[in-house]
Amino acid sequence: LIYFLLLIQKARNLFGENIKRKPVKNYNGEYFIKEIIPTFQGEGPFTGYPAIFVRLGGCNLACKFCDTEFEDFKKISQEKLVEEIKEKAQNKRKLIVITGGEPLRQHIGPLCAELISLGFNVQIETNGLIYQELPSQVFIVCSPKANSRGVYSKTHPLLVSKIGAYKFLISKFHKGYDAVPDLSDKNISAQIYVQPMDEYDEQKNAINKKLTLEIAEKKGYNLCLQTHKIWGIY
Ligand code: SF4
Repeated sequence: LIYFLLLIQKARNLFGENIKRKPVKNYNGEYFIKEIIPTFQGEGPFTGYPAIFVRLGGCNLACKFCDTEFEDFKKISQEKLVEEIKEKAQNKRKLIVITGGEPLRQHIGPLCAELISLGFNVQIETNGLIYQELPSQVFIVCSPKANSRGVYSKTHPLLVSKIGAYKFLISKFHKGYDAVPDLSDKNISAQIYVQPMDEYDEQKNAINKKLTLEIAEKKGYNLCLQTHKIWGIY
């Protein structure tokens, strides 16, 4: 019964049922961490790279299609976190992907700086609404999200020039996601990827894939798939 109740609780934290969490105010050398996983980057510009995923707890949004569990987190000091990353990287994983939830909810600048000083490459994945000062070497992938009315939230103005790649999810079944917002006035030099949203439904996924292909073809954007699901890894 307890296991069943835990499963229900876990399910409640997904698909738009998570608590919307505010940015963490003060940095005290600790982070809210959901998990630290050695794997391969499955999507975006570093697809296929051996990586350590550091999933931070909590998000400032609650997207209806979100299939990531990030609420069951615990506090870990930066020292312990870096030790665990080094141990799991075993000198063969050079890329650290800091994701969430929303990683910029927390003061990850010092963590990124330490990882870079140790010779790691650092990539973060953000929805783009919160700004944090980060070392210039951090590669920022921004995946903007639309609200329930289908209007895209504005990327934080201080973040825009630092974004290395945008990743837009494409779906016929979620308001706002059937097209990429107009970026022509933004003087963007970042790479732009379009990725079909996973609806956990074969027919819907086929429709999303077709639409993604059409958009990529029309706009000259890069195609992107969640290859970790094809490989059957995290
Ligand atoms: S921004 Fe990303 S992590 Fe946060 S709820 Fe939306 S899809 Fe999930």
